[in-house]
Amino acid sequence: MGGKGSGISMDKIPCVLVKEDKVIEVNEEFIEMTEYNMDEIIGKNIEKVFSLLRGGPCIDAKNIDEKADYFLFTKSLEVRYINIEIVIEKEEIRYIIIEKQGSKFEIKHSYLSQLCKSNDIGVAVYSVPDMVLIKANQKYLDFLEPPFNKSYYSIGRKIEKIITNWKESHVAEFWQQAICTGELVQINEYEHIGYERGITYWNSIITPVLEDGAIKYVVSNTSEVTEQVLNRKRIQEQMEVINLQNRQMEAIFESMPKGIFVNYKDANILLQNDVVRKIIHSPSKLRVFNDSHKYIKYFTMDGKSIDFEETPSFRALSGKKIKDERIIVRCSNKDMVLDVSASPIYDEENNVLMSVASANDVTELVNSQIEIKNQKEQLKAIIENMSDGLVLIDKSGKLTMLNKSAEKYFYTMEIMGEDRDNSDITYFDISGNELRKEELPSKRIIKGQIVTEFRILVKKHNSDIYICINGNPVYDDNGNFLFGIMCMKDITEKVIQEKIIRLQQDSVLRAEREKNEALEKTIAMKDEFLSIISHEFRTPLNVINSAVQAMKFICSDDLSDKAKKYLSMIKLNTYRQLRLVNNLLDVTLASAGNIKINKRNLDIVFLTEAIVDSVKTYAAHKDITLTFITLCKEKVIGIDDEKYERILLNILSNAIKFTPANKSITVRLGVKINNVYIEIEDKGIGIPSEKIDTIFERFGQVDSSLSRQAEGTGIGLSIVKKFVEALGGSISVKSEIDRGSTFTIFFPNEEIAEDISCKTIDDLLSDNKLVQITKVEFSDIYL
Ligand code: ADP
Repeated sequence: MGGKGSGISMDKIPCVLVKEDKVIEVNEEFIEMTEYNMDEIIGKNIEKVFSLLRGGPCIDAKNIDEKADYFLFTKSLEVRYINIEIVIEKEEIRYIIIEKQGSKFEIKHSYLSQLCKSNDIGVAVYSVPDMVLIKANQKYLDFLEPPFNKSYYSIGRKIEKIITNWKESHVAEFWQQAICTGELVQINEYEHIGYERGITYWNSIITPVLEDGAIKYVVSNTSEVTEQVLNRKRIQEQMEVINLQNRQMEAIFESMPKGIFVNYKDANILLQNDVVRKIIHSPSKLRVFNDSHKYIKYFTMDGKSIDFEETPSFRALSGKKIKDERIIVRCSNKDMVLDVSASPIYDEENNVLMSVASANDVTELVNSQIEIKNQKEQLKAIIENMSDGLVLIDKSGKLTMLNKSAEKYFYTMEIMGEDRDNSDITYFDISGNELRKEELPSKRIIKGQIVTEFRILVKKHNSDIYICINGNPVYDDNGNFLFGIMCMKDITEKVIQEKIIRLQQDSVLRAEREKNEALEKTIAMKDEFLSIISHEFRTPLNVINSAVQAMKFICSDDLSDKAKKYLSMIKLNTYRQLRLVNNLLDVTLASAGNIKINKRNLDIVFLTEAIVDSVKTYAAHKDITLTFITLCKEKVIGIDDEKYERILLNILSNAIKFTPANKSITVRLGVKINNVYIEIEDKGIGIPSEKIDTIFERFGQVDSSLSRQAEGTGIGLSIVKKFVEALGGSISVKSEIDRGSTFTIFFPNEEIAEDISCKTIDDLLSDNKLVQITKVEFSDIYL
């Protein structure tokens, strides 16, 4: 019994007596049940004692529920299921521990106990629902991280306390599933993250165990499969790498420009790439090497048939190494030229395992080589038969090739400049300057120059030979000089012909020049003659005119009407004659470029109005309304009044001539920024469109028909145009048949810098000059 005596025996039920929270007494039964010594219990705080006993679930010494099922663990860590009763005696509390019936797990669940003893697989028993570790074998404990790999630290503890990261791991869900369904759950290779040693993998079988119809325990049979999983994963990764490498190899293999195929000794084709498939025109892979001869025939380059056993890849299977053997392969009636290399591949025992062969399709190359050869021969034939001499030179200027024609040119060698010093040949350029050695075409070409149509005069033994040379250097792709090419032609005949032609041309030119000079002289003489004649005509005409005038004034009373009429006719015709003479003189002066312009600053408005006024009688006589409209009152510009009068009178006389009665003529004057314009608009018969372009040019057309001019047609407007242009202006016409014509003249809107004349407009008009001029200009129009 307990060390301190008294009545603690309590029907031999294990109990402890506590005073002021400390155990003061403990009975034999308690010691027997828990397997602890008295000393380990007595004097200890009661909370500490329950903790020592790993009591649970949630034993609170101060708040014991007598109806609750508790458990505790013996010193040898065997679980005991208990109820606790409390007896309070004055200041002492007695905790009576009533072991439940069948509480001994090792007896009640002896098979689980036995299972725990085997150490082949990790076995653990957890209580439900609090998930406290009741029992575990060392194998299981070894899975846990220190210190929980020792039963002292793990038994009686909750699962989340002993398995790192339990709450976060998904495995807890499987446990929950087993508890909820009451059925066994098998988990394979679940991944557990949280152990210091890294990620671990586990196989577990979670088995719920019933007691009294309710799940009381969960048994975990666990084995670690980390190594297997990791190994498998490593293998998988390696397989992926290998697969990738295989795919890469295959891509390289497929994209190789050469055809590649690998044959096993047993004649199975292991590999063949797309090029091979194209070569043998096989849509699907040719599986068996030996079959290939069914589709393919092999030939040497000179057309001899090759047996299948003699093909390079077959020979490689017997250990031979073949390098670039050129063969012809016939497949689907198509010939191909292949350069084939083949090598044997040995196994570890040095036996030939397979052969690898590469085939380069050189059909195009061979064909183009043949083509080139043919072309070369053609070219050679052309070159040989060319009439021009063709020469190739190396970079030192030495002759490397010459055609037949070049051979014929005895001077070819000399042109190369080789025998220059001992030769009696001299070379000249076409202008007759002697050529120095470095100026010779061959020397220039090797210096990189292009020689184009270079003419050389070769003098040898008193004979002159002319040669035309074209040539240029030829370079390789890297810009290195390969050779120079020179093409030469004997042009002696041509040069002689050219010389003759040139001489003939010279004499023709000379004759032409002399003819022109004579012509110019004649024209000048003609102009002078006309000028003199005109002047000479004018003087007597003026005298006749004055005489007629005088007769009219002085002898007016003595003359009969008839005589007066004849006098008027004489007067009118002298005016007409004067007009013709004036025009002839002007034409002559204009063609010689001798129009004299005498500009003065004058009021063009006043001047124009005066001129229009002077012809009003003529218009009125024909019942034509002549109106002058001006947009400004006065405008002073630099103008030659005499020329202007002639211009305007000429246009007005035409207007009156070609306008029928009862129609109108309007003269408008306006000023723009740069110009002064005068517009003479008539409502007359108009000018046909085919004529309008030439009315100012008439003079040119009628140059030789003086007789027509004498009739008074065709030169008036050409003189007008010349005068207008001499005054710095321009003239244009618009006309419509039966509607009338409008002549527009533009003069520059500017005054002359210095006006030294002292004449005024009044002066100009005072001596009746305008009337005289008008009479002359209007001599065609009868009043
Ligand atoms: P001419 O000195 O004979 O008058 P012009 O050179 O002045 O000759 O005129 C040439 C021709 O242009 C005239 O013969 C006439 O046919 C035509 N012409 C000139 N002005 C007019 C006009 N206002 N209306 C119709 N025809 C015109």
